Amino acid sequence: MPLPVPLPGVLPALGSPPRYQRHQPEKTLLYRIVEQHYPTFLAHLEAEGRTLPEHVRQEFTDYLRCGRLEHGFLRVRCESCHHEKLVAFSCKRRGFCPSYGARRMVESAALLVDEVLPVRPIRQWVLTVPFPLRFLFAAYPELMGRGLGIVTRAISTHLAHQAGFSKREALTGAVTLIQRFGSALNLNIHFHMLFLDGVYVQDDCDHYGFRHTPLPTIEQLHDLLQVISQRVARFLERRGILERDEDNSYLTLDGLAEDPLKDIHGYSVTYRVAIGPQQGRKVFTLQTIPPQPEPSPGHARVAKLNGFSLHAGVAARAHQRRKVERLCRYISRPAISEQRLSLTPTGKVRYELKTPFRNGTTHVIFEPLDFIARLAALVPKPRVNLTRFHGVFAPNSKHRAAITPSGRGKGSKSKQAVTHHDDKAPAERHAAMTWAQRLKRVFQIDIETCEKCQGPVRIIACIEDPAAIRQILEHLRKKESVDSQAQLPPERAPPQLRLFDPM
Ligand SMILES: [Zn+2]
Ligand SMILES: [Zn+2]
Repeated sequence: MPLPVPLPGVLPALGSPPRYQRHQPEKTLLYRIVEQHYPTFLAHLEAEGRTLPEHVRQEFTDYLRCGRLEHGFLRVRCESCHHEKLVAFSCKRRGFCPSYGARRMVESAALLVDEVLPVRPIRQWVLTVPFPLRFLFAAYPELMGRGLGIVTRAISTHLAHQAGFSKREALTGAVTLIQRFGSALNLNIHFHMLFLDGVYVQDDCDHYGFRHTPLPTIEQLHDLLQVISQRVARFLERRGILERDEDNSYLTLDGLAEDPLKDIHGYSVTYRVAIGPQQGRKVFTLQTIPPQPEPSPGHARVAKLNGFSLHAGVAARAHQRRKVERLCRYISRPAISEQRLSLTPTGKVRYELKTPFRNGTTHVIFEPLDFIARLAALVPKPRVNLTRFHGVFAPNSKHRAAITPSGRGKGSKSKQAVTHHDDKAPAERHAAMTWAQRLKRVFQIDIETCEKCQGPVRIIACIEDPAAIRQILEHLRKKESVDSQAQLPPERAPPQLRLFDPM
């Protein structure tokens, strides 16, 4: 069994008065909603002869155990003063858990900046797809992968031509983060692609020169989107999934394996209620501000066509590495912001949009059971990779080692050559960087040194045996009731509260 990974809770101490209260996930609103309504949701489905796939059930079960000392922990002790604390395990599930989602966000951003993206200009391209494709991509990841391939090839060709080369001569590179959610917690599979904002060309001596490409014009975005939507449609037609007659085109899923989540996905994609008496109706929304005018097309730098949209307005120059890291964090952020979640006086779940919709909508409101259906729709299928590398960043690219900071990949130079400037190559530094170190890097939260004496701390035990867990927690509770709570500093905010708004 792999060692569970500790959450960065700030924890009570053993053998000395607790200095800080642990972040208690069971007290968050999201946790309480799931704990209260998930069993009813399951019962409802069963009553209708429906069921949830195993990986979605597992996600809920693990979420309810995540960060709770009752389900096991690490004992960590200071080597100088022997002060102890407990660190609870995380669920390591990528559907909707905000704490693990926050951790993944930080890790994947650090990994992309340290190991993958070279010190070159980077541009974010965002492609959204029509409702039927969102549904198709959620249920059939292989089709999503093919669709993404079409998109990245089209953009690569555009960049090569912009730089004055043929597709064959120029080397492009991109990382795609596949996001599954929209701001209203709706299922909205879309692609955030971080492209090198230019191309590499190799000279006769195998040196790589970099040519920066200009910002795409709105006309170029339109042309690209035209190419993309036609190629995706042709691909689906060839696969027998898209039928077209003179006026219309529609998807036909007859040839594909039935997806057990198809209803829940379908309702989530189209902003409709998935369960209960309101099933099929539009999700209730609140408009609390006046409708906003459409921005002028040139200003928005976004093209729209046939339900697709393509945006390329955000970029970072080569030296703006912090901006790149912020961008990476933004696009790998968790689906749910707990700060924007609340209950209405009648017990409905209210979620505030990060940015109001153009029609003035600022909140969406769910019946609790429908909210659980939303969460279920956000859980990706097992083994579907949501981070993809293209062109020179692809794992099998022969250029990867020469271009990426990690220097790893096919044809990588000897370790000597890579480590020439520094004690350790970035890849090694990265591998050596623990979660604790990363927390320190990003949030100045330190769980590696003792909070009492700043001495080094060490993991002394991994407690998973239920009897041992009970015994230790019992001991702690007794101590806590003896110690004066009034002397405790105020509870620290859980780190994810500061994670959600990195832009
Ligand atoms: Zn200490
Ligand atoms: Zn979790």
